[in-house]
Amino acid sequence: MSAYKSAEQYRDVASRLAIPSKAFIDGEWQAAASGNVFENIDPATGTMLGLVASCDGADVDRAVRAARRSFEDGGWSRAAPEERKAVLLRLADLVRAHAEELAVLESLDSGKTIKDCLNEIGHEVPTFFQWYGELADKSFGKVAPTAEKVVAMIVKEPIGVVGLVLPWNFPLLMAAWKLAPALAAGCSAVLKPAEQTPLSALRLAELAIEAGLPPGVLNVVPGFGETAGQAIGRHSDIDAVSFTGSTEVGAYFLKYASESNLKPVGLEMGGKSPMIVLDDADIDDALVSSAISAAFWNGGQNCSANMRQIVDRKVKDAFLDRVLERTRALQVGDPLDPATDLGSMVSAEHKERVLSYIEIGRSEGARVLAGGGASEGLSGSFVDPTVFDGVDPSMRVAREEIFGPVLGVIPVDGVDEALRIARDTDYGLHATIFTRDIDKAFHLARRLPCGTVAVNGFTEGNVTTPFGGYKRSGSLTRDNGTEAVDQYLQTKTIWISLR
Ligand code: NAD
Repeated sequence: MSAYKSAEQYRDVASRLAIPSKAFIDGEWQAAASGNVFENIDPATGTMLGLVASCDGADVDRAVRAARRSFEDGGWSRAAPEERKAVLLRLADLVRAHAEELAVLESLDSGKTIKDCLNEIGHEVPTFFQWYGELADKSFGKVAPTAEKVVAMIVKEPIGVVGLVLPWNFPLLMAAWKLAPALAAGCSAVLKPAEQTPLSALRLAELAIEAGLPPGVLNVVPGFGETAGQAIGRHSDIDAVSFTGSTEVGAYFLKYASESNLKPVGLEMGGKSPMIVLDDADIDDALVSSAISAAFWNGGQNCSANMRQIVDRKVKDAFLDRVLERTRALQVGDPLDPATDLGSMVSAEHKERVLSYIEIGRSEGARVLAGGGASEGLSGSFVDPTVFDGVDPSMRVAREEIFGPVLGVIPVDGVDEALRIARDTDYGLHATIFTRDIDKAFHLARRLPCGTVAVNGFTEGNVTTPFGGYKRSGSLTRDNGTEAVDQYLQTKTIWISLR
């Protein structure tokens, strides 16, 4: 029996959903002070889901005031860690209990498949709240080595009010990546979801109140980057920002910080990640599944997508045969149908961007072996999974982030050429290596300048392992793992001279 319901049943859930439309500030739904709203579109059908408050500086200001008040009154920031843990565990349970509703909401909002939404929201999102909740009462400070007449304690304190600015590709999962460690640390937050996908984070804010989070600790301000996003970046009473999105916008946040209060800025940004297939790799199901999901998972709208597949010429034909067979079997279509493998691109605008990159690849001389355009017979923002062969490392499609379902094969001769090409990028988020030779695997893993290296299987790791980028993919901060909490803490030394 399938673990999933039918598309009709998910559509029935959709027909009964309450679609959030206001900002969530100080524990309450609030319209934007300006009264402005924006249209929230389902990209799979082009229909409007509703009108959402378009927040700007005045709303961010209200949210920061609520967050500051809640932070200073200490109900959350100075609560016993086990109290914070209890709330985060209750929130994890509430997300699990509402997973279907949240997943359908997110699928409609983003065009992501219901399968992926159920997996992320039913399993991964609650795991984040649970894991960081559990961590809250197991993190110890330090006592420095001193003379007997001194006690020097090194303690960690919540940094204060944090701004969390999110992308649209994994809306609720990215919210959980930031929010769970920030709340566990004792911070108060002003969270801005991407304008394409505001709904699930708004519903989460309501569930957080039900879980016992004091009003004002979590505020969600939907709106556009240049208004709500910039207002967060420039706000002088926000103590730190954690941002996930494009490298271009990440750079703005450094500028905003330098022109306001010098707040620290954590950046998780784009990528152009390689998958290296050496000549000794078995071209088996595991490898082919990895190649497919590395390029096409979430419609390729994934920061760590391995679009550049660098394949030794000795195994290239075998690799392409299997990859093409699997690509042609992928089902593109209705995101609410659990048989669908690739849903819609997030917006009509993004679909056009991806299609223009496919044209650029063609005009640069790469050969299209599968896909290569919009999906026929589907009226929403659908793009067929596309495989290019003969990609040259100098082409724009090999250098710029496409963020769509495009897999490009770069043929190489041997490990040295593979490494040279894999390293030749401005980004440094992720890489995958396929080889049976453990020495080569270690050599490549150490020489690749990126935050995550997966060997013999495509993965980004999980909640326990830090995730972030080298070079233009990130800052020194990391999401996930115990490292994520550092973004939301200050270190204090308390030096006590005894008499
Ligand atoms: P984006 O940079 O366009 O937007 C991200 C967020 O920034 C949105 O909330 C947006 O409203 C806001 N924003 C946009 N312009 C702004 C401005 N001028 N000032 C302030 N805020 C502004 O990114 P996106 O298109 O939503 O997401 C796709 C990007 O995110 C890709 O580059 C992808 O690689 C990256 N990403 C990275 C990770 C990671 O962990 N490294 C994870 C997911 C996505």
